[in-house]
Amino acid sequence: MKKVVKFGGSSLASAEQFKKVGDIIRSDKTRRYVVPSAPGKRSSNDTKVTDMLYNCYNLAACEKEFTNLLDEIHARYQEIIKGLGLTLSLDKEFEVIQENFEKKIGRDYAASRGEYLNGIIMAAYLNFTFIDAAEVIRFDEDGNLDSEKTNDLLSLRLEGEKYAVIPGFYGAKEDGTITTFSRGGSDITGSLVARGVMADLYENWTDVSGFLIADPRIVQNPKSIETITYRELRELSYMGATVLHEDAIFPVRKVGIPVNIRNTNAPEDKGTLIVEGTCRQPKYTITGIAGKDGFASITVEKAMMNSEIGFCCKVLEVFERNGISIEHMPSGIDTMTIFVHKDTFEEKEQQVLAGIHKAVNPDHIELESDLALIAIVGRGMRSTRGTAGRIFSALAHAHINVKMIDQGSSELNIIVGVRHDDFKNAIRALYDIFVETQI
Ligand code: ASP
Repeated sequence: MKKVVKFGGSSLASAEQFKKVGDIIRSDKTRRYVVPSAPGKRSSNDTKVTDMLYNCYNLAACEKEFTNLLDEIHARYQEIIKGLGLTLSLDKEFEVIQENFEKKIGRDYAASRGEYLNGIIMAAYLNFTFIDAAEVIRFDEDGNLDSEKTNDLLSLRLEGEKYAVIPGFYGAKEDGTITTFSRGGSDITGSLVARGVMADLYENWTDVSGFLIADPRIVQNPKSIETITYRELRELSYMGATVLHEDAIFPVRKVGIPVNIRNTNAPEDKGTLIVEGTCRQPKYTITGIAGKDGFASITVEKAMMNSEIGFCCKVLEVFERNGISIEHMPSGIDTMTIFVHKDTFEEKEQQVLAGIHKAVNPDHIELESDLALIAIVGRGMRSTRGTAGRIFSALAHAHINVKMIDQGSSELNIIVGVRHDDFKNAIRALYDIFVETQI
């Protein structure tokens, strides 16, 4: 049995947090490969080390004084080292970083030092081997991850290492240029390492006990999700439920390794298990509810539209030409409605309208903005009758008008469109009917 464990920035923000992490790792000998983030915020008004590094490098890049800020960053690490009672010194490392900043070696290099230095401390604290991610995470010339090469490098390098620390968030191109993932990318490193060693489990430790059924900023104390499939997760993350970096799913999913989201501050909680498939019926008909605001809809109406071959295609081409991505597309016999993000649409609105008129000569085009979409997601819906009925009666009771309905053919989700003003109430009403009253 082997597990890969990734710890986020808030789990490693101070010596006190490091100690919790140390206890978690030492309590289970199968937790063999550790992927740390850079130190995060110690309190809500604190700054993440990654952000400090970006700021510091910006100063260096414009040839401004940057060493004071670099000293502050050094002090953050020093505080952790001291708090853990280690005799480690990072002086040499900081000399090299300063030289490289003076040479303006690159923003990615700068940001990556957060995880690199935290990895050195973590390895010393646990007495594990430190492996620089630049050796094992490979990016191509254009800065995209080379996942197959990375997999080969990781499995080869880790074959002989029983216990190792591999810093998250960065890797290198063939020529050694340090490259990072997008923000939050240590999740991806953890997933790649899990695939590389064919781990039994990828544990992703953060500051929440997994995914919640609904957004806690909207629903008070929502229950957490025990088990979720990758497909359900995809639907919910698209709608904005984020705990895990989206790209972290692919490497482990490919080889069927489950991911367990856990809470460093409440290690007794089981968290959420993300799996490819499961026979376990969810506790409630739905697994989760998530929503996004800021949509606009364009309804194109033309009599006998259904018999006009290529009608939809011509309309869609207009959006493509204007670089607007389409989010949803419910249709009627003589109408088709296109949901888009309001912000991107607004800039091109008149070009799109003119384009549609030219392309299909419609009878009427109607625009509506300030719409929100809510996804009600759950594998349990497939085997339960009346889910849609319950959704609509819950919304009707809450006096909410449904502007659009879309049920995917997988029967995994139902999406409803509501007005922006009804958004939060709609989520509360849905949570209430499916979770609180459990019918
Ligand atoms: N430290 C990086 C960030 O703040 C990467 C990570 O934490 O995963 O985005």
